[in-house]
Amino acid sequence: MTEEKDTYTLDDLIPEATTLNDISPPARLSVFGDPVNHSLSPQLHNPALQALGIDARYIRVHVAEHDFPEALRLIKERGFVGTNCTIPLKFAALEACDHVDQLALKLGAVNTISLEEGRVFGSNSDGPGFLRAIREAFAIDAHDLRIMILGAGGGAGRAVTVQCALEAPERLVLVNRTREKAESLRAEIAPMLEDEMIHAASSRVKVAEWSDEGLESELGNIDLIVNATSLGMKRSDPALIPAHLLQPHHLVYDMVYSPRKTRLIIDAESTGARAANGLSMLLHQGAISFETWFNREAPLETMRSCLKAALGAQENSLT
Ligand code: NAP
Repeated sequence: MTEEKDTYTLDDLIPEATTLNDISPPARLSVFGDPVNHSLSPQLHNPALQALGIDARYIRVHVAEHDFPEALRLIKERGFVGTNCTIPLKFAALEACDHVDQLALKLGAVNTISLEEGRVFGSNSDGPGFLRAIREAFAIDAHDLRIMILGAGGGAGRAVTVQCALEAPERLVLVNRTREKAESLRAEIAPMLEDEMIHAASSRVKVAEWSDEGLESELGNIDLIVNATSLGMKRSDPALIPAHLLQPHHLVYDMVYSPRKTRLIIDAESTGARAANGLSMLLHQGAISFETWFNREAPLETMRSCLKAALGAQENSLT
């Protein structure tokens, strides 16, 4: 029996490679990414596969963007059920599919690939995972909220912004360090909102300046603040929003999940606001991918407790 590796490479996928041939249960699912060794997806999916008695293992594979088509070809040959795709492969994945569902087309990215009879199907669980996370954390739907998204220009920020736009919220305010990216996203989603909304889209979706004054003038009319930037991952990161601008009525969702208590979450909670970290989004996007592959309900509580344990172990290894 070959010992399992933490992260596999393209070479491990070729049929002659011995590394994958006799591990048990057999590798049938994966996450592709570059980098990928930080991904907690195996710790999320393997306990779920085990709990449901499915004879399959989920592995990490380091795949550079130019190797993506070959990696896909190899897992097809190996009889994989599918793969997740993380940075920077979500756009390459969209291109590589034989069929992409409507939502993934709108989000402009595929994070879940299903392989069925030699055909490649693409979908996206990031946006729906975010919606489930918001509902779970705050018991309210995005449709009923006035939402500010910080980082509406990055990959995750884009998925969450488009998903929120599809929910036709009361207000959507986009903020991004590089303002032009938020402007071009606004232009892209405005037609979606016009279809859905009674009022002109221009009054319901806007781009705000990332400055104390720009944020202050918007935050009184915002319910949900979403951090989709990478700020907060390091203890030394500057505050995303000055603490005095946060208000008790705010709901704060920080997509960062490590550390669990980011500066934004600490500041929000000390103001009396409700706040949650990105662990629930990670959990729900994983559960949705699982449901896509197996067409059955994912064992959510097993996945949640294993994810929390894995995150705790990862944090301990870093300190
Ligand atoms: P990305 O594509 O690299 O985007 C990074 C975003 O952060 C951009 O909007 C960027 O602004 C902004 N940013 C970076 N450094 C900044 C700084 N110093 N000041 C202000 N803004 C800054 O990354 P991503 O894949 O979208 O991931 C973003 C975050 O979401 C990460 O923390 C990631 O862990 C988290 N995430 C969580 C989940 C989950 O399931 N919870 C899923 C996906 C991602 P510019 O456009 O100006 O560069």
